[in-house]
Amino acid sequence: MASGFLSVHNLRKSYGGHVHVLDGMNFQMEPSERIVVIGPSGSGKSTLLRCVMGLEKIDNGRIEFEGARYIEARANGRKDNLIDTAVRAKIGMVFQHYTLFPHLTVLGNLILAPIRSRGESRATATERAMQLLKRLGLENRAGAYPGMLSGGQKQRVAIARALLLDPKIMLFDEITSALDPELVAEVEGLMLELAEQKMSMMIVTHDMWFAKRIATRVIFCADGRIVEDATPARIFSDPAEPRTADFLKKVL
Ligand code: ADP
Ligand code: MG
Repeated sequence: MASGFLSVHNLRKSYGGHVHVLDGMNFQMEPSERIVVIGPSGSGKSTLLRCVMGLEKIDNGRIEFEGARYIEARANGRKDNLIDTAVRAKIGMVFQHYTLFPHLTVLGNLILAPIRSRGESRATATERAMQLLKRLGLENRAGAYPGMLSGGQKQRVAIARALLLDPKIMLFDEITSALDPELVAEVEGLMLELAEQKMSMMIVTHDMWFAKRIATRVIFCADGRIVEDATPARIFSDPAEPRTADFLKKVL
């Protein structure tokens, strides 16, 4: 049963009993892998990440993390899931639309979870947050409110906020899609830095150039299924599946 790092088994999910948004997904991930998930709009990419983050109830299947049960659909058909919230706390996620609290400063946003969910002292949380802001070149924005930041700065702060909880894996759902083009590089640059530090990541992006650069592995999804799961070299130059090739023809 030992299953490496992240292990997704027969993951099924539908909304309101209609179509299967996730129609039996299976994959395993090792530490330090960077899986880029690509696929047409509506293929289930966000739902997959949200399920891994424990934000959606799954209908079937199970997810293991570091060899232990993390999320499991109950076999008796009840709608609730077994979920290990201590495991969930090891997973960080950043979304397309900025999710910073607008009424809190950058520093306030950063220290909230460390204080509330980890019981850190305000002094410790503040010190760690300021160190991280310094590393990101954002220390002079600590007192700013999100509304005063550029989109790129907001996303970097959102990443920083997740990092302060010491995640073992980071999930990124199209975090540069809403940014003006000139702001994309500073956010992608930070993700590349995390890659250098061997952060494990799952990344949904439409930026195929970035996908090629950051991925150690690419998963192409369509209709809630994994159509192809291969190295970026393989996927981008010689995909095995016609559906992958069709998709890439449209987006490259
Ligand atoms: P992607 O991120 O690949 O574009 P999503 O995971 O967002 O795809 O969505 C997959 C499918 O699930 C889509 O058909 C979408 O309309 C549907 N869907 C997503 N979220 C919900 C929801 N909360 N309620 C109902 N349907 C949803
Ligand atoms: Mg999506």
